[in-house]
Amino acid sequence: MIEISHVNKWYTPSFQVLTDCTTSVTKGEVVVVCGPSGSGKSTLIKCVNALEPFQSGDISVDGTKVNDPKTNLPKLRSRVGMVFQHFELFPHLKIIDNLCLAQQKVLGRSSDKAVTKGMMLLDRVGLKEQAQKFPAQLSGGQQQRVAIARALAMDPIVMLFDEPTSALDPEMVSEVLDVMVDLAHEGMTMMVVTHEMGFARKVANRVIFMDRGEIVEDAAKDDFFGKPRSDRAQKFLSKIL
Ligand code: ATP
Ligand code: MG
Repeated sequence: MIEISHVNKWYTPSFQVLTDCTTSVTKGEVVVVCGPSGSGKSTLIKCVNALEPFQSGDISVDGTKVNDPKTNLPKLRSRVGMVFQHFELFPHLKIIDNLCLAQQKVLGRSSDKAVTKGMMLLDRVGLKEQAQKFPAQLSGGQQQRVAIARALAMDPIVMLFDEPTSALDPEMVSEVLDVMVDLAHEGMTMMVVTHEMGFARKVANRVIFMDRGEIVEDAAKDDFFGKPRSDRAQKFLSKIL
């Protein structure tokens, strides 16, 4: 589903942000990406839906090359759900309208269809009662669940998450992770930057460990947690577990 092949990226030539990154995510797979701050996790995930350009290598999503100038990026992005650390809901729109906007504008759905789909997804993340509120009236955990529902409203073929729980108060982390676990169990293809190793243990198929722009480890979950091959990953794990 996602093929990342020998990707190199830098902002200035003296500092390489991604070095020869190669990995893939197959359909239905959940891949967790972890690693120290500044190791390039966010950059890598942003490259997947072309929010960041890169200098060399290739990335394709469902067979479409994201770094091909001929690729219709808005169309590609409409099929790749993305949830960031900060929920980035439209503050002036009610929750239900947050869910409907792109369905109507990008997918051309009728208002009725968009609302039906939006309400179904709000129900699924346990927020049906909040549909008429504005984002600021919701807790951080609730806003993040809305952000996930909004991404799902586009019927994505893959979901990308960049530390979706790291800006939340501790008591709200699990309500967001529960939604993500359900999604994984339903077979959604997911690439998830997170340090929530409980989540990784529960649903990840593979874990990627990055350090200084390199994919240092790319292993099946049990191998990663059992005994990471590299010293750097072992050190990292010993700090966060
Ligand atoms: P964190 O865990 O803190 O979110 P990360 O692994 O997501 O870190 P990135 O945000 O991908 O790391 O950043 C990788 C490197 O690229 C860092 O050294 C960062 O300073 C640098 N970087 C990121 N964005 C830019 C930019 N727009 N211009 C210049 N350098 C950048
Ligand atoms: Mg980051």
